[in-house]
Amino acid sequence: MFNDPVEKHLRLDKGHVSALKRLNISSIRDLLYHFPSRYGYSSIPTYIKDIEDKQSVTIYGKIKHLETGKTFKSRKPIAQAIIEDDTGKAKIIWFNQPYLAKMISEDSLVRIDGVARKSKQEKTTFMNPKIEVIKEIPDIKGDSLFSDGDHNIRLYPTYSETKGITSLWFYHSIQKILKTINLNELNDPIPKEILDKYHLPPLSTALVWIHGPKKENDAISARKRFAFEEVFIIQIQKARERHEAKKGKTFAINTERQILNDFIDSLPFPLTNAQEKATKQILDDMSKTEPMTRLLEGDVGSGKTAVAAIASYATARTKPNQKYNFGTVQTAYMAPTEILAKQQFESFIKNFQGSGMQIALITGSGCYKFPSKVNPQEATNISRSQLLKWVANGEITVVVGTHALIQKSVKFKNLGLVVIDEQHRFGTKQRKLLARKDDLTPHLLSMTATPIPRTLALTIYGDLDLSVLDELPANRALVETRIVLPKERDSVYEDIRERIKQGRQVFVICPRINEPDPNKAKAIYAKSAVEEAKRLKTEVFKEYKVKVVHGKMNTKEKDSAMKEFSEGKTNILVATSVVEVGVNIPNVTVMIIEGAERFGLAQLHQLRGRIARSHHQGECYLFTDSTNTKTAERLKAFLKAKDGFILAELDLQLRGSGELSGGKQWGISDIGMEAIRNIKMVEYARNEAQELIKKDPYLKNHSMLEKEISKRPPVHFE
Ligand code: ADP
Ligand code: MG
Repeated sequence: MFNDPVEKHLRLDKGHVSALKRLNISSIRDLLYHFPSRYGYSSIPTYIKDIEDKQSVTIYGKIKHLETGKTFKSRKPIAQAIIEDDTGKAKIIWFNQPYLAKMISEDSLVRIDGVARKSKQEKTTFMNPKIEVIKEIPDIKGDSLFSDGDHNIRLYPTYSETKGITSLWFYHSIQKILKTINLNELNDPIPKEILDKYHLPPLSTALVWIHGPKKENDAISARKRFAFEEVFIIQIQKARERHEAKKGKTFAINTERQILNDFIDSLPFPLTNAQEKATKQILDDMSKTEPMTRLLEGDVGSGKTAVAAIASYATARTKPNQKYNFGTVQTAYMAPTEILAKQQFESFIKNFQGSGMQIALITGSGCYKFPSKVNPQEATNISRSQLLKWVANGEITVVVGTHALIQKSVKFKNLGLVVIDEQHRFGTKQRKLLARKDDLTPHLLSMTATPIPRTLALTIYGDLDLSVLDELPANRALVETRIVLPKERDSVYEDIRERIKQGRQVFVICPRINEPDPNKAKAIYAKSAVEEAKRLKTEVFKEYKVKVVHGKMNTKEKDSAMKEFSEGKTNILVATSVVEVGVNIPNVTVMIIEGAERFGLAQLHQLRGRIARSHHQGECYLFTDSTNTKTAERLKAFLKAKDGFILAELDLQLRGSGELSGGKQWGISDIGMEAIRNIKMVEYARNEAQELIKKDPYLKNHSMLEKEISKRPPVHFE
């Protein structure tokens, strides 16, 4: 029954069908996993004869003498009726609620909630009470579903509604199903030992509790259980992925430490402690034939590139095997955008200059190789087919690129390391694809500057080992950050004019507007950036060059706008936050963030990081019109904090999990996100899942879990 389609057990009209489809509910199981979004206390169920004046009560009874009409003077709809129970009658009057007549009719059984008025002369009367049609009248003094022993407190679930389906529909339908289903036949995906260990209710109990708790604690423990269940199942998936990835074989990278030290010494700076530690973890991992699966997490500017360069260098200095003296083990470096790929390519050229290694860039709009045969100091534009030949025969050591890298035509001879910069949907499968060899899974170094709370990282990156760069290079000056109120706007523009006169450049970031439909949202913020650019150009900075870059421009337009900016031809660049502003332009030292209150703190921090790369003092202005004190507090916290990952935790506390910039994009439900606020729960779920997969990697003894994880779309981060 659990897996039956909903319509097999409930009568659905057209509206229900499309609403359920929208909510992704097709089976009875889906329906039962559609949890209330909150619970409200309602009043004490009372018999009509016992009602006192001004008392807030719940009455169950039958509707009689229903009359609808219009008020005499204002012609507004009015309805009245009598409600009867075994003990008496009361009058109900509704103003202005024309739909009522459709909902109830003579003899309907109803439940009403409201404040009663009772005087000697008159009948007991309710004005505009809440009303709900019910199937049968419960025995309110007995052990009704909601009564809590003596107190008779009622916890009433509310489901989020959508067009075509009310909260009430969910409530009644789910209660009906719960009464008919044999709950004991449900197989619980969580093993019993784990339920017992963490005092979690079994599935059958939890379902009853979450949809109709008799007391608050029932609801709490049921929600806890389902939150745990979700994270546990994600962790099982991740542990499985990890198991799969580790099963493969790859090249053991065993470059002599001295060779690596020489390379590290050739970098223009000493490594930070954090970089050294991460480098060591990575080299240890890569020295094995078991493929590395590691995530390097670090703020913008923490120096992830250098760490990736060392790993790539170590790879490049490894011969594939004794037999062939030709070629080296190769590295593929994937960047999220063309701009960043180019920048990365240039940075590799700098780092590897003089090593004799060949480096290539593959993007949708062209291919380059370094060094050029004609001019060994420079890169040269070459044909794609020529480049692919050299990648395939192993001559090229490091290939940098965008997604164009995973196209079928790109074949490596000896791919040993894949570095992914800010690109998250990249699992074992894609790595195998890249290597084009069934028996080979290259080492993976994934890198991210996207600050997320630790609990979330442990969950969505559950398959990866974690290295963290929690320290910025010492020479880094902090960006001066200021909150700017509307009345200060003009004077700040004057300050900025001074900076431009001194030769500096300015980023203006326009807000992202929270809209459920991402495509729609894009349209809105693209427009606002365009308009802001126009305003600045025609009203504020008339004497300077102002350009705009946003997500709706095509790659060519974007690239050319960025190029002009990086060459200093544009003084001010207005951008939306979606646009990749990760490009390193040291001369850009001023940033204006419009509508700062709309951004998460971690997101603000990331944006601000773009101007923290210069020896010039960076200045960041947060423009806000908001007078809300909570907003002010949030923004003030931002002024003090230095680490994006700390700010992400703060976002989680201050704004709640629903607001974690992105919400449902990871494929975690609301209840799963409740778990994300609880580090203990996430750690327990993770440990249990890893233990279980260690003992039973193919879930031979946990068929329920196996079913669960094969059904669930994989959780991802992007
Ligand atoms: P991200 O982690 O954002 O990728 P990058 O690797 O781009 O950071 O480094 C940011 C800047 O810091 C670069 O200009 C880089 O040369 C410089 N850098 C990296 N490591 C160090 C270090 N240990 N000391 C000084 N500067 C460094
Ligand atoms: Mg980087």
